[in-house]
Amino acid sequence: MRYISTRQSDGRTVSFEHALLQGLARDGGLYVPERWPALDSGALADLRGRPYAEVAAAVMARFAGRAFSRAELAGIAAESYAGFDHPVTAPLVQLGPNLWLQELFHGPTLAFKDFALQMVARMLDAVLARRGRTATILAATSGDTGAAAIEAFRGLARVSIVVLHPAGRVSEMQRRQMTCAGEPNVHNVAVAGTFDDCQALVKTLFADLALRDEIGLAAVNSINWARVAAQVAYYVHAALALGAPERAVSFTVPTGNFGNVYTGYAAKRMGLPVERLVVATNRNDILARFFETGRYARGEVQRTLSPSMDIQVASNFERLLADLAGRDGAAVRALMAALARDGAFTLKGARLRQAQASFSAGRADDDACLAAIAEVWRGCGRMIDPHSAAGVHAARSLAHGSGAAPMVCLATAHAAKFPDAIERAVGIRPALPPRLAQLAAKPERVTELPVDAGLLARFVRDRVHAPARERVA
Ligand SMILES: *Cc1c(COP(=O)(O)O)cnc(C)c1O
Repeated sequence: MRYISTRQSDGRTVSFEHALLQGLARDGGLYVPERWPALDSGALADLRGRPYAEVAAAVMARFAGRAFSRAELAGIAAESYAGFDHPVTAPLVQLGPNLWLQELFHGPTLAFKDFALQMVARMLDAVLARRGRTATILAATSGDTGAAAIEAFRGLARVSIVVLHPAGRVSEMQRRQMTCAGEPNVHNVAVAGTFDDCQALVKTLFADLALRDEIGLAAVNSINWARVAAQVAYYVHAALALGAPERAVSFTVPTGNFGNVYTGYAAKRMGLPVERLVVATNRNDILARFFETGRYARGEVQRTLSPSMDIQVASNFERLLADLAGRDGAAVRALMAALARDGAFTLKGARLRQAQASFSAGRADDDACLAAIAEVWRGCGRMIDPHSAAGVHAARSLAHGSGAAPMVCLATAHAAKFPDAIERAVGIRPALPPRLAQLAAKPERVTELPVDAGLLARFVRDRVHAPARERVA
């Protein structure tokens, strides 16, 4: 299995291990598989009824090439999902005729990002062990990603993790999920600034090549190919439960950075019978507008009840563009340059039709999300979070005639992470799952820093190089 950059022009390919360690390609593009690996009907039928971890290992084996043996992947997947608190890992719940919810929030931080980060952390650790190297994960977060990354990397011997969040701008629960980790390899920084300041600091440190080499800086943000690869398994798992490979299935996916719904497209390209992929957005609807009109035009980010979807430019969208452009790196570079220059580009004709052949779009404002939360609560007694609600609203608004493929709405976070919205919608505060309730009693560890790249670089060096026993505060 070889990978190419979406912006490549010289045909250069890299290994899975390289894509895992590097994240972004040197030319600024994103890695995609040179050819889609196959999941044919025979292979799919063999996976039917298997435990989630086995499906995850079998799918990852198709992407990892020779980087990991089957036995290694089986062990990594088993460990990755052992901490999920549901026996099915990614269970389906029926919401209505032909309408299903796949709950992706049974992992340690109660959001779907655990599915990818739990595997990616262990794969990275295994590669580092083999190479006798250490690495430092540096990430900026507005909440959920930081918590999932810390949970995945805590306690690993070869990795230090430094997570920046904007001081006072994440919820108490989100902050505690990060600062209560209690492991010497986890370092939280509260930056006296915004999320954009945090991201800019991370970019500055990555641009410092001397520092990058010295401490082995690595990124596991949503553009890392291994995260997409790890997510394919829950699409396969759901489709098998609903009749694949004989029967096709559709998915509705609450979308921010286009990582999750692009994974559904990857599953389809591999051979999973996926009929439609519905891109569900909130009022930040740049992607919905693109799939309706072909015009991809950046706007102002608006705050909504579903903060993880408050994104205007979706980084993983470049991966789909690469396919729509026939893997022509120069064409992708031209589109991305137009976006940087004019804030927009337009696809027409065959390219747009090709996009619309797989994807539909729907959007939900806050009121529609609250209504969907109330409806699901009254109809089936289940609480869904505002992100998942945007998906349920979009799925229900699209005409979905009888005889159509079953529709699976991905539930990306646990309702208890957004108690205020749930209370507004149904008049009840969701109960805190034990994992979250325990956090209130644990000590927090966090360092406050101003928006200053020099100070941050010194902080990171000190923490990464300090002997472990001194790193425990
Ligand atoms: C990250 C996140 C999303 C958006 O996922 P993308 O892969 O960025 O499209 C949706 N819902 C929740 C709860 C998230 O944490």
